[in-house]
Amino acid sequence: MSDATPELTDEQHLQIALDAVGNAAALMPSIVCAACNRTRTLADDYDYTPLQLITGRPLGWYNGHDEQMCGECLGKLMRGEIH
Ligand SMILES: [Zn+2]
Repeated sequence: MSDATPELTDEQHLQIALDAVGNAAALMPSIVCAACNRTRTLADDYDYTPLQLITGRPLGWYNGHDEQMCGECLGKLMRGEIH
């Protein structure tokens, strides 16, 4: 007999599934730009700070009252290209 692999219980399967969902939610929050509908990705997962304007670095995501705006649109907004 060689099947020494223990079977997972339903409870263990559920816990693994919940962990996977939790990790996915933590890594990929469903934040969408209010102006261009682009989803925030891990590649640009940083928030806007005034320091980015001073140093000339790419702008991060801006957290508005009820909506979020990506750095590209925030830059356009500041330059008056969109309203
Ligand atoms: Zn945008």
